[in-house]
Amino acid sequence: MCGIFGIYGHKNAAELSYLGLFALQHRGQESAGIVSSDGLNIYDRVRMGLVSEIFNGKKLAKLKGHMSSGHVRYSTKGGSSLKNAQPFVLKTGKGMITIAHNGNLINTDDISKKLENNGAIFQSETDSERIVHLIARSKERDLTDSIVDALKQVEGSYSLIITTKKDMYAIRDPYGIRPLSLGNVDGAYAIASETSALDLIGANYIRDIEPGEILKISEKCVKSIKPFEAKEPHPCIFELIYFARPDSYVFGVSVSEARKNMGQELAKYDKENNKNINADFVGPVPDSGMYGAIGYSKESSIEFDLPFTRNHYIGRTFIKPQQSTRDFSVKIKLSPVKEVIKGKRIVLVEDSIVRGTTSKDKIKNLREKGAKEVHMRVYSPLLKYPCFYGLDIPTKMELIAHHYGVDEICKIINADSLVYQSIEGLLNSVPQGTKYCHACMSGEYPILRSDVKD
Ligand code: SF4
Repeated sequence: MCGIFGIYGHKNAAELSYLGLFALQHRGQESAGIVSSDGLNIYDRVRMGLVSEIFNGKKLAKLKGHMSSGHVRYSTKGGSSLKNAQPFVLKTGKGMITIAHNGNLINTDDISKKLENNGAIFQSETDSERIVHLIARSKERDLTDSIVDALKQVEGSYSLIITTKKDMYAIRDPYGIRPLSLGNVDGAYAIASETSALDLIGANYIRDIEPGEILKISEKCVKSIKPFEAKEPHPCIFELIYFARPDSYVFGVSVSEARKNMGQELAKYDKENNKNINADFVGPVPDSGMYGAIGYSKESSIEFDLPFTRNHYIGRTFIKPQQSTRDFSVKIKLSPVKEVIKGKRIVLVEDSIVRGTTSKDKIKNLREKGAKEVHMRVYSPLLKYPCFYGLDIPTKMELIAHHYGVDEICKIINADSLVYQSIEGLLNSVPQGTKYCHACMSGEYPILRSDVKD
């Protein structure tokens, strides 16, 4: 998961990118970058760290021009290092091209081999750079045609912002796996992974970039084309479960409402299956468990309370790349509130269980502070399969649900009871009519190559 942002036609373009990236910081905290153009030159600043650490007024002032794009990264392909940070700026025979990418290609190895056989030398390990090489090497002379030619050769998920000195392209893959929204502010166009970034800069949401759409924004006009073979869109339902900010709309869906519905569905399941718990309160594992816990509380009529307080000055545990950092983050991120917990029977609502370490740790914290019972409710189904489209679970061996069933997981995390959402319950929680990707939970992959290794 990464976050991308772009703005075209604004005198404070780089400043607005900076703000946009702030709103998208939860999507990646390893590196951040902003590029800009005044029509003559491209300016860039790309560094490791948080947006707030990389930019200040002086640095932003050097990013001149009316057009700008930015990226916040967490690594899926390629390590967490500066050479893999984005946006990439590459000098090509077709002029300077910058690219900011959210997603994951699944045929990168094939493309890399093909490009290397033709003499390409890569600066990074990322699939995003491969896309620029394909654009640069396309036999098409027009840049839009070159982009189409390049993207016809790649498979996987991509939401992209590509810029030249003069033009900006906003692109979504034909399956529409990752989100990308279009808005306007002060007569300028804004593009963002999530609408929370549009809200922050005061932009009005216009619409989503459609699956398979290439939107070109230039001085003369805004042009939309759909040059790819049409596919049935499969937006990532995990965006609604975990990735996206609750104040965002992604795929036209309110993230907070979807999470509340997921919590309600879980409570309904408990009611229907005689698993009603005589609990004192329902509480979340913050932050993403919050709205699910509200939904569960509403449906079950069990009081809502907050058993943990969060340290807001540390990044989200799940998207740190190394195990040691992850464990450390879990320990310092959430503190149990003894007065709320002591002597209580608690329904603890969590968005998902990946490795099981966070859940085990949180339940241990609650018991240490005197909780009488802890009943875990997870508003996503069992995460059993890897994601090839941008979630940092490279192999299924890391997933606790790949190795154990619900009862065993319940014992491992030391809960009094454990209930997961069903796929059906999950799909009931979101507006009907869209076919979502839920491959990491169901194993049904919308895009699968025979050479994909797990
Ligand atoms: S496999 Fe899971 S995380 Fe990956 S795109 Fe599909 S739903 Fe999203």
